[in-house]
Amino acid sequence: MNIIDLTAADCDFQAEVASRSGQDLKTCYQCGNCTAGCPYTFAYDVPVSQIMRLIQAGQRETVLNSKSLWLCASCQSCTTRCPNSIDVAKVMDVCRHMARENGCVSERTSKLFTDAFLQSVEKHGRAFELGLMATYTMKSGRFFDNIALGPPALLHNKLSLKPHSIQGKEQVARIFERFRKGE
Ligand code: SF4
Ligand code: SF4
Repeated sequence: MNIIDLTAADCDFQAEVASRSGQDLKTCYQCGNCTAGCPYTFAYDVPVSQIMRLIQAGQRETVLNSKSLWLCASCQSCTTRCPNSIDVAKVMDVCRHMARENGCVSERTSKLFTDAFLQSVEKHGRAFELGLMATYTMKSGRFFDNIALGPPALLHNKLSLKPHSIQGKEQVARIFERFRKGE
């Protein structure tokens, strides 16, 4: 499938992603190792090696609207497999941030889950799973998706009914504060 549209090439896109990720994207020679090791290739609309190629070709819209950015699990497998030492997972991360900044959310529920997770970590210093799931379920409206998982997890003491207090909670909250201020 040819998804490169040369008429829509944005010359600044590669430079922007390279500068924000600190990676030399020009060295990608499309060996496909990253895609071969990616556990989510089966679910991606654009495999990770093609994302790299699209960035090189300045395809801003296609990359930022790709579902793959939101399905990426940040597992780092692509990074460890790249023969040119490109931190591919970081490139995916940067593109996801750019998509967020541009209001491109191709996988709404993934974004909602990430937001609920971060909100929980900011508030409690670590994830409070039950609260996180409640926030996610309310916002996504997917009330019955995980209903069967709750009772066994509670039964085996895998879910706490209230958040654990941790040391350094305030410092964690300050990290979020500093991020918002752009420090
Ligand atoms: S970090 Fe993302 S793109 Fe890279 S291998 Fe893992 S899931 Fe795939
Ligand atoms: S493994 Fe590295 S060089 Fe190979 S396609 Fe992926 S990013 Fe490009």
